[in-house]
Amino acid sequence: MLNIKRFIFNPLLVNCYVLYGEKHGILVDPSFSNNNEEKELYDFVNNQNIKIIQIIVTHFHFDHLLGAYDAVNLFKAPLSAHADYVYIMGNFCIKTQSAFFGYSIKTPPIPKIILKDNDIIYIENESLKVIHTPGHSPCSICLYYEKGNLLLSGDTLFYEGIGRTDLPGGNADLLRKSIKNKLYTLPPSTLVYPGHGEQTTIENEIKYGFL
Ligand SMILES: [Zn+2]
Ligand SMILES: [Zn+2]
Repeated sequence: MLNIKRFIFNPLLVNCYVLYGEKHGILVDPSFSNNNEEKELYDFVNNQNIKIIQIIVTHFHFDHLLGAYDAVNLFKAPLSAHADYVYIMGNFCIKTQSAFFGYSIKTPPIPKIILKDNDIIYIENESLKVIHTPGHSPCSICLYYEKGNLLLSGDTLFYEGIGRTDLPGGNADLLRKSIKNKLYTLPPSTLVYPGHGEQTTIENEIKYGFL
């Protein structure tokens, strides 16, 4: 079974996750924004004695990418993102996006691994499925670890909330469709770890959520 560790990074309180087994792990949303946060993450990975094999970005928003440039160098691991990320990267400047909110960001590297819907990511003997959930951003993905009954939902689904769709590329209809057809169809007990805020379950969202 994989373990999960959550960090809360940068003033926008982005959840950065490490999902890890005995010796390997993945880093999801490299959002650290200063030396202390970077050290906290680095020390954890070092102390657990794990090798980060992929750095996965749930979507192309600067708050989830503030540490992307440094994380790739620090962990010597490839950046992975959905195919639409590359298109968006070419059309929306991350520095402009970041500056709009008052932050500066080092330009993240181009992803080395391009993900698509239903792709499988392996960590040791465990597997995660990529679920493409456009809406908050065209390149939004969730990661589903079926055996662990766990979903990393990025900014698509939150505790009694859903992602905003007023940023460039956002689409409210698509977001609702993604959640309804691809997330609400998962087992109700699935634990949801969102990109911001606390955990929830699919059942709780179906009952009390925002759709
Ligand atoms: Zn976002
Ligand atoms: Zn976010």
